Amino acid sequence: MLSEVSQVNLYSVKMRASRETNGVREHISGAEQMVRASEVPDLARDLMLRAQNHSKGTPDFINIKVEEIPEESCLRLKALPVRSLACETAAEGLRLACELLGRAGVADAEAVVRLMPQAGRLRGAMILDADTLERLEPDRERGVRATKMGRADRTERACGGTAKNHYAEALVLATKVASAPHIVAEICISDDPDYVTGYVASKSLGYVRIARMKEMGSPEGGRIFLYRGPREELAATIDFIEHRPVLVEDLPKKPCLAKNAADPQGPVPDKWAFLEQGLSAIRKAGLARQIRDMACGPSPRVRCEGRDLLLMASNDYLGLANEPRVRERAARALLEWGTGSGGSRLTTGSLALHSELEERLAAFKKYERALLFNTGYMANVGVITALCGRGDVIFSDELNHASIIDGCRLSRAEIVVYAHNDMADLEDKARRYAGRRGLIVSDSVFSMDGDVVDLAELARMADRYGFLSMIDEAHATGVVGETGRGVTELCGIQPDIVVGTLSKALGSEGGFVCARAQLVEYLINRARSFIFSTALPAACVAAALAALDILESEPWRVRQLRDSVAFFCDSLRKLDVGAESQSAIVPLIVGDERRATRAADLLLERGYLVSAIRYPSVARGSARLRATVRGDHERADLTEAARQIARALREA
Ligand SMILES: *Cc1c(COP(=O)(O)O)cnc(C)c1O
Repeated sequence: MLSEVSQVNLYSVKMRASRETNGVREHISGAEQMVRASEVPDLARDLMLRAQNHSKGTPDFINIKVEEIPEESCLRLKALPVRSLACETAAEGLRLACELLGRAGVADAEAVVRLMPQAGRLRGAMILDADTLERLEPDRERGVRATKMGRADRTERACGGTAKNHYAEALVLATKVASAPHIVAEICISDDPDYVTGYVASKSLGYVRIARMKEMGSPEGGRIFLYRGPREELAATIDFIEHRPVLVEDLPKKPCLAKNAADPQGPVPDKWAFLEQGLSAIRKAGLARQIRDMACGPSPRVRCEGRDLLLMASNDYLGLANEPRVRERAARALLEWGTGSGGSRLTTGSLALHSELEERLAAFKKYERALLFNTGYMANVGVITALCGRGDVIFSDELNHASIIDGCRLSRAEIVVYAHNDMADLEDKARRYAGRRGLIVSDSVFSMDGDVVDLAELARMADRYGFLSMIDEAHATGVVGETGRGVTELCGIQPDIVVGTLSKALGSEGGFVCARAQLVEYLINRARSFIFSTALPAACVAAALAALDILESEPWRVRQLRDSVAFFCDSLRKLDVGAESQSAIVPLIVGDERRATRAADLLLERGYLVSAIRYPSVARGSARLRATVRGDHERADLTEAARQIARALREA
């Protein structure tokens, strides 16, 4: 690894630049390289220019020092192996740094990272006891300054090029420090505002560049060395770092930044680390989600993990998922046609039953034609991506369902988000895009707020500016409108496209779209989530047909649901809990994520299943309890649920 060479006339060229502001002398820049005598003038000039053009400011004092170093006194070190880690944010970069320091044996890496800003105020590096994190640098103002080092190749031939080579300079320094006795690791963030890359290095880790460790433009940087050894040998370590001349050989080329920069010499990165990092961040923010097993029966009560709960969270608003006639029709279809359809609608998976349901849905929604998808999610994604592409524009309500958002993103159209149900804002934006091909899309009942779109204005806007109009009736079908046909019935307006789901009030599974016949024909040829997915199984289709029969022959079910919602909201308001809803969704805004979760937990303990809805389902800081009402909730149950909700909100 090391060999002594005998030749003379190597020179260390050192630059320090500073500026006095308000009586305080501030360090601006510093660098050092070792070169042959013939290269000294060029290097001195380069370093001078670097000092004069530093993004931290213009110095009023520049010191260029040239010092002869006998080459035989130089220790030759092989450069540390280099690896690069990509990351999106400074926070992620710092997490990666912590993990690397941990692997190098530093127990409290997070505390080390927290000391970085303090280290940045020193001219040199901070040196810490790797275990106690006690500061060990003898001069607390100055820190420890690594000097007398250079790259062997610059001393061997005349290598031109810019002196500002962060990568090579940092690697040389890191290699020297990693070779100092008892240094177990080092971490560095550049104080150059234009340079966000940092590194963690040690003999075992090698030199690990981290793409982003601070925000662009920040002059905050710092350097910390971690020492684990006898105190009486500390002076020798510092002496090595500051005074021992070192030449570093075999610098690897600067690697490109990639998540898995495959460097055969570098340590293999832990490919699972992101999971723990990601999950612990989610848990800390109170956003962890979990799956619970629910045993549902015909009533709005469930058995969940040994407890009987009153269900105030289901989308099965009419209780049709367990309605005897629906179950029976599904069972008969299953026995007749089997469990799976075995193919997509365009190959072998289409039964007459599918077409029958499509005709019924079209008639129910008063459109020419309908098309089934496997879920409401797939319907939104399929329809939006089929109708819109690059160069088109989509106007999307800021509170639209995730499946609409995903459809918009996947379409590659320009997405213009307008304020929630704010038709003046929509018009403002629509006007600017008049003449473009476009789509205005909105939930009809908003899934987290339960309010209803201003459909009359939305449709008027679409007509005036020549855009298609589309609403998603997932929470409206079977709920809103005199006979449960949705917001189209409530407002008496038929937008160009209606999307819906079979999985909420219709108690089945599947999604659908209703529109003019030609548009449906277009979707059959263009909607990828329709074309490339296996058709719904017969049982789902039959269940939805039975549910539609019941909805049409027993419209009292819709009225009953509406009355129950009104009763429940009244009960809450009597307890001073603000509650109103035009649908079956009753949002109770809490704000704080953890408080919403606590309230839901308290309710769960007391036998009430009410969801806590948090980011990313809703905006940060607008967490809420979201209670849903079913037509078959008993009045006594709703009264008690309201009382328990009011109590949980007080206690959370
Ligand atoms: C639930 C929901 C969907 C998704 O429907 P699935 O059939 O469950 O995939 C789409 N849009 C809205 C507004 C929803 O609430």
